[in-house]
Amino acid sequence: GSALDIRDFNLWYGKSQALHDINMEIQKGSVTALIGPSGCGKSTLLRCLNRMNDLIDDLRIDGQIQVGDFDIYGPGVDVIALRKRMGMVFQKPNPFAMSIYDNVVYPLRVDGVTKRSVLDETCERALRSAALWDEVKDRLKESALGMSGGQQQRLCIARGIASDPEVLLMDEPCSALDPIATLKIEELIHQLRGHYTIVIVTHNMQQAARVSDNTGFMYLGRLIEYGDTN
Ligand code: ADP
Ligand code: ADP
Repeated sequence: GSALDIRDFNLWYGKSQALHDINMEIQKGSVTALIGPSGCGKSTLLRCLNRMNDLIDDLRIDGQIQVGDFDIYGPGVDVIALRKRMGMVFQKPNPFAMSIYDNVVYPLRVDGVTKRSVLDETCERALRSAALWDEVKDRLKESALGMSGGQQQRLCIARGIASDPEVLLMDEPCSALDPIATLKIEELIHQLRGHYTIVIVTHNMQQAARVSDNTGFMYLGRLIEYGDTN
């Protein structure tokens, strides 16, 4: 079935239209790459999927985005509940200045979870899923800021999946990383595929070909081609 359904979606920043008539149906458990030149609207579209753009003045949207049967821009939507269903990973790894453990369980703490066993289990599960457990299991109490860039990005992925979202949104997750760390993230995306529906913004065509099932090509705010990656 479809995990995400974007229908006749348009977006304006003030008078400037940044997205035109976007239509996409994204299958559960698939990896979709959004590709296109700088400024074509990739991040804008990705950010609509968890309403990260909400605080921008003068933002106007028209159309519909559904995650499951949840209408993202519907009336009275609980944005906090929405964001729990949509994990997000950014271009620059952004661990908080706290321990590795505290970073991973942060979304649960925000949610009011205090039970030690639940936090411990989530921490281990998320770090295992992010292919980081073996590297950090003996130093969970150390600051996340002492990790390498690639480890920090996998930590951010662990934090992004800690609250067990349906969708994982990734905004150029490798562009601040070296080639080896990039390869590890790409392998990780393969492992996460199936468990999560993944939407990844990239401007690297080879990366899109390596990691995705489907590719959407954007240009000047339009989705000009969308279909199987190969
Ligand atoms: P990147 O190419 O790495 O995404 P950008 O320079 O495009 O970086 O954007 C950096 C930040 O500035 C983003 O949060 C984006 O939403 C915002 N931004 C981009 N273009 C504009 C603009 N014309 N006016 C205001 N904010 C913008
Ligand atoms: P991409 O991710 O493909 O580089 P963006 O989604 O960042 O593209 O930007 C799409 C267009 O919207 C660009 O023209 C950019 O300048 C503009 N834009 C992005 N963020 C903002 C913002 N916060 N305010 C105004 N314009 C913006």
